[in-house]
Amino acid sequence: MRRMRNVKIVATLGPASDKYETIRKMFEIGVDVFRLNMSHGSHDEIRERHQIIRQIEQELGRPIAILADLQGPKLRVGVFAGDSEELVEGAAFRFDLDPTEGSSSRVCLPHKEIFTALEPGATLLVNDGKIRLKVEKCGEDFADCSVVVGGTISNRKGVNVPDVVLPVAALSEKDRADLEFVCELGVDWLALSFVQRPEDVLEAKELASGRAAVLAKIEKPAAVEAYDAILAVADGIMVARGDLGVELPVQAVPPIQKRLIRGARAAAKPVIVATQMLESMIESPVPTRAEVSDVATAIYEGADAVMLSAESAAGQYPLEAVRTMNAVAEEVERDPVYREVIESSRSVVRVSTADSIVSAAREIAENIGVKAICCFTHSGTTAAKTARERPRVPIIALTPFTNTARRLCLYWGVNCFISAGDVSRFKMAVVSAARAARIGQFAESEDNVIVVAGVPFNIPGSTNILRVAPCDERLIFNTDPE
Ligand code: PGA
Ligand code: MN
Repeated sequence: MRRMRNVKIVATLGPASDKYETIRKMFEIGVDVFRLNMSHGSHDEIRERHQIIRQIEQELGRPIAILADLQGPKLRVGVFAGDSEELVEGAAFRFDLDPTEGSSSRVCLPHKEIFTALEPGATLLVNDGKIRLKVEKCGEDFADCSVVVGGTISNRKGVNVPDVVLPVAALSEKDRADLEFVCELGVDWLALSFVQRPEDVLEAKELASGRAAVLAKIEKPAAVEAYDAILAVADGIMVARGDLGVELPVQAVPPIQKRLIRGARAAAKPVIVATQMLESMIESPVPTRAEVSDVATAIYEGADAVMLSAESAAGQYPLEAVRTMNAVAEEVERDPVYREVIESSRSVVRVSTADSIVSAAREIAENIGVKAICCFTHSGTTAAKTARERPRVPIIALTPFTNTARRLCLYWGVNCFISAGDVSRFKMAVVSAARAARIGQFAESEDNVIVVAGVPFNIPGSTNILRVAPCDERLIFNTDPE
């Protein structure tokens, strides 16, 4: 069941994909990381989906990553007496803290901090940016606005405030409770919504305290501006194009996507391109040409992963969406132009011994016909550095830690195996790497693989050795690795 592509597929689970059979099929046909969206679904439902994934992992003996996506400080209006109201261009409309039902002239915006941060001239967007209002006058508990672009406003619609860095905590009460819940369940990645500053990421990392890696969703203009500082502290990045395209003009999203992917790759941190990738497949078994092109573009740009949202969570064709993504990925990666683009966009970083070793491994793989680069990794860093090189052959990561193996499922080109037995002596490590390559169907008996490791073992960041090793039947299966 080895994947014939390097880019990873993240799929969101939801009502359309909450059965064991569906989730198992999704994994078999290509999903590497399952996303649990904490904005939807009760804790019981989340627990059930989590349990199904772990069961499948056990049955198939392959690590699977789970990403829990925290809702973040998403602003919402209150409710209306008649459930919805029509806002017309030029009309006046007030947001305030009055909890009573809204009307055609006002509604509650139950986020006290917002009003102090607003200034006349600021833009408020409602319902995915469909309605646009301009703040004319504001005070501690109200904002009087004029409607710039009208539309229907209804109960609990989302509000975006793109021009203002909001003085709100990165994690709401709900987020904190959700974070604790999923960390206790055991997830591998946490995605943090509406990150505004590096401190937001640091706060989540502190709460997670190593139980899960933290990925910053870039969906606010402030986060785009503070990208380098956010990237420095986050473990991964999501190009969250849905809200990004609301908070900024939609045409600003493609160049930002390119910049975020480049930055993340240079930092050896995984980057996911998300939202509307195969949007029409929510209702149609076939994608549009433009969607196929969008998925392909993200892959050509070097993303670690592409993501399905409603397509797999709530659409009519979750399996077809996964198959489509997988097929597009395989096709792109067979294209010689893909290789050219990926190799010409490699940033040169040779700061540590590990960086130099993995770069040498990549170069050797280009020059001689080895079948894989096998790396021993504790924290996952060596595998991440190898992935950054984007080598021509598959990467096999061997780790004694299930958590590391699962986390690495999100990285470009990394295939994870739990290293069994004592590999503390390099000879035995070489043997178990060659075995993994054979068992995973990456190499035949007459092939060679590259082995990268740190000796002595068990010291993080000590990668210092490289060997070209045979996968010869008689050598590797007759040696006792214990
Ligand atoms: P969401 O995040 O689906 O949780 O809103 C992704 C995005 O905004 O693109
Ligand atoms: Mn979002």
